[in-house]
Amino acid sequence: MNARDSEAVAALLQQHGYAIADSEAEADAILLNTCSIRDLAEQKAIGKMTALAGLKRAKPSLRLGFLGCMAQSRGDELAKCLPGVDLVVGTQRFHHVPEYLDRLFAGKGGVVDVSAEQGSESTVKDHLDDGAVTALVSIMQGCDMHCTFCIVPQVRGPERSRNIGEIVDEVEKLVERGVREVTLLGQIVTSYGRGVVPRKLVQLLEAVHEIKGLERIRVMSPHPKGFGDDLVAAYRDLPKLCEHAHLPVQSGSDRILKAMRRGYDRAKFLRIVEKLRAAQPKMVFSSDIIVGFPGETEEDFQETVSLLREVPFEQAYLFKYSKRRGTPAAEMAGQVPTAVKEERHKRLLAALNETALRKNREWVGQIVEVLVEGQSAKNAQRCFGRTRTNKGVVFEGDLRHKGALLPVRVERATVVTLYGVPVNKDL
Ligand code: SAH
Repeated sequence: MNARDSEAVAALLQQHGYAIADSEAEADAILLNTCSIRDLAEQKAIGKMTALAGLKRAKPSLRLGFLGCMAQSRGDELAKCLPGVDLVVGTQRFHHVPEYLDRLFAGKGGVVDVSAEQGSESTVKDHLDDGAVTALVSIMQGCDMHCTFCIVPQVRGPERSRNIGEIVDEVEKLVERGVREVTLLGQIVTSYGRGVVPRKLVQLLEAVHEIKGLERIRVMSPHPKGFGDDLVAAYRDLPKLCEHAHLPVQSGSDRILKAMRRGYDRAKFLRIVEKLRAAQPKMVFSSDIIVGFPGETEEDFQETVSLLREVPFEQAYLFKYSKRRGTPAAEMAGQVPTAVKEERHKRLLAALNETALRKNREWVGQIVEVLVEGQSAKNAQRCFGRTRTNKGVVFEGDLRHKGALLPVRVERATVVTLYGVPVNKDL
């Protein structure tokens, strides 16, 4: 979500006559887009800004700004405690950054703007024309769920969805530029269109599916609770919708799921997994998991480990619970000591890696369809792409295949990457 918001701001600034600097040293302004999901993300942003304020002492003309979630939740406080910060812009006001920068460069003083704006869900729509084959498309803002650990509803506001026509227009333009895969983004995409569009997310998926030249569609992040029969059927009926479901489960323990106010228990979650697998037998599952939620015992934690193996999750983001200001869980009894969280995180990661390696090795010797994205980041001699199931593949290819769907034979697998060669090397 933040990568997408940052790109939209950068694209707007370019349209406005600004250019992206090659380095911090060359920049006239540096904007940090921030995340509040865990304390660590906030501390990193503050640490980075403190270092940039040092840079500014040597170059007083430098303008500095905080954007996004932490800007939203801390507002004024940020400008006050970090002298040198000129701009603080919240999550509904990203598209005002160009005019605010103009103000700063005209010497008119700093701006703190964390106000709400009606219609802001439709403002994150500009893209950099960078030749990318994949693109993120924001379809909604906010979340109405109020899980007890989560600060998102506070910093992103209530759910607001863009209309289908706007989203289809945006994807069509991206496809004209060479994009072949889109990820439809929101904090809770399974709630897309509530109160605006009948049949909601499925109707949007069907509309985007019609776009010629688009090869793959992904969604991020759905809520497990939102997989009604129509959405499950879409995974069977819409060939462009990739057979990968990111299902943030958070915990495998019923007691903890209840305290988190997630709206499902372990059995219901497993039924959703089974429904999806019945509709699409090749489905691959990934997840978000929190360890050390208040009150989590060793037994609760073991339930999470066993769920990870039972599904199995082939990829997951594992988080240590982080107390967030103003959330119910921050006040709960039984806060888990840091050392215990760290130790559980380590054990869960080991279980995940073992599962991921085993599942990835099953691909060795098989042929996968790879959407060629470009050079491999680690080895410029090789190409990188992804399978429909969202596994990264590094292979001996040629950049002229960028944007193509290439059959690749897998020769080797690690925890996160498959390595292979194109089936037809003379292509
Ligand atoms: N809307 C999605 C999640 C988006 S936030 C959902 O509810 O399913 C991304 C992930 O950050 C969450 O899935 C959760 O695992 C993690 N997260 C959120 N709040 C957290 C907190 N207070 N401490 C640790 N991890 C947290």
